[in-house]
Amino acid sequence: MVPAFPPSLYRLAVSNPPQYAPLDGARRADICIVGGGYTGLSAAIHLAEAGADVVLVEAGEVASGASGRNGGQIHSGQRRDVLWLEKRFGAERARALWDAAEDAKALVRALIVRFAIPCDLRSGVIEALHKPSLMAEAHELMDALRDRYSYDRVTLLDRDAAIAATGSERFFGAVADHGGGHLDPYRFALGLAKAASEFGASLHEGTPALSLADGPVVRTAGGEVCADTVIVATDGGSGHLIRESRRHLLGINSFVVATEPLGQLGEAILPGGESAADSRYVVRYWRKTCDGRLVFGGGETGAGQVPADICAFVRPHLLDIYPELADVALTHGWGGVVSVTAPRLPYVRQVSPDIWVAGGYSGQGVALAPFIGKLLSEAVLGRPEGLDIFTSLPISPLPLTEAARRALVSMALWRGRLADRF
Ligand SMILES: Cc1cc2nc3c(=O)[nH]c(=O)nc-3n(C[C@H](O)[C@H](O)[C@H](O)COP(=O)(O)OP(=O)(O)OC[C@H]3O[C@@H](n4cnc5c(N)ncnc54)[C@H](O)[C@@H]3O)c2cc1C
Repeated sequence: MVPAFPPSLYRLAVSNPPQYAPLDGARRADICIVGGGYTGLSAAIHLAEAGADVVLVEAGEVASGASGRNGGQIHSGQRRDVLWLEKRFGAERARALWDAAEDAKALVRALIVRFAIPCDLRSGVIEALHKPSLMAEAHELMDALRDRYSYDRVTLLDRDAAIAATGSERFFGAVADHGGGHLDPYRFALGLAKAASEFGASLHEGTPALSLADGPVVRTAGGEVCADTVIVATDGGSGHLIRESRRHLLGINSFVVATEPLGQLGEAILPGGESAADSRYVVRYWRKTCDGRLVFGGGETGAGQVPADICAFVRPHLLDIYPELADVALTHGWGGVVSVTAPRLPYVRQVSPDIWVAGGYSGQGVALAPFIGKLLSEAVLGRPEGLDIFTSLPISPLPLTEAARRALVSMALWRGRLADRF
């Protein structure tokens, strides 16, 4: 079950988001989509634009899941870098996964332009290296990207340049990816919802899908949708609907704070306007908003464990990187579930002839989720080729019992924290 996190800064900044009435009564549809995040909304846009009759049911508000609460970073590639992918899958498949991720970034930009979504899109992601030994790996990766992937938008920064780019003395170097970017995640999702609705998709908030029966039929408290095809786009948040999603996706809570506007104090922090993430296993990520706040994510817990005071939980991570912010007020603290798979690659499957499931983008969903939503729409309309690169990824199963899942997350976080220290 998804814990109740406080609303994000991004959500609170929008006083009257459009509302979509709960489903009331029985409906027929070509496609029923469960989940109103990037995956579901993008699928809804592309299906409705193609003329399909689409009903989307969302348990809470549009983007009340990870899509409205995330770090807003648009990363290049998959969660696993190309060197890892080449070793595991060979050059050809690694290349296809890289190309797909490039298409995903391009789609985000295209959607923002096409639907004029005001979501503060900016360029640049800096990966800040927290250990000197990581410079050699960064070099190797950058050479591979340039030589084998013709990607020349990355620059390796030495220690001085990394300090200047991040405004923190904490780092030993960095990789600046000018092809990445960042945005206001919630406004991006709102724009997608508006576009889907304008193409004729019926969106219903406050409508949790309670069961998924043969038909397929999606049952809710106030009605049901009988559809030709169902897309379960809940990012793992619906183990009761579909066992396969619970079997392959695991939720890790990640926490975020926003500072008060920093004024002059913030001038040295990310002066180039990029976003940043560090190289730790338990990753810290940050960006500045248009009004000069620092939005900073750091600290993770397993399912059901939400700290009573999120700001106090994240503060040490923030001060580790920016000690000069010790006296700055943290005005907002929130969290969300990052859904991961064992290999940290997306889980996309056609689990029966009329049911698709997708999620587990493992921290790369700002770009990958809308893209996979689009590919799902194509697959449902009879063109599954684009999805093959994802549906064929081997994703090993995870334990199903709650106790075993908790133990797995605790162990992974413990090992990660240990690795981060040395
Ligand atoms: C704190 C945080 C920081 C992150 N930072 C980044 C980042 O910087 N860059 C990046 O690329 N990725 C990041 N991610 C990951 C990214 O946000 C996700 O991969 C992406 O949003 C997933 O989109 P989605 O549509 O698949 O799922 P979601 O956005 O989670 O949408 C699923 C929706 O399904 C709904 N739902 C669940 N069960 C039901 C049901 N039974 N019936 C109806 N509706 C249901 C939920 O309410 C939810 O709205 C972050 C995630 C978090 C939580």
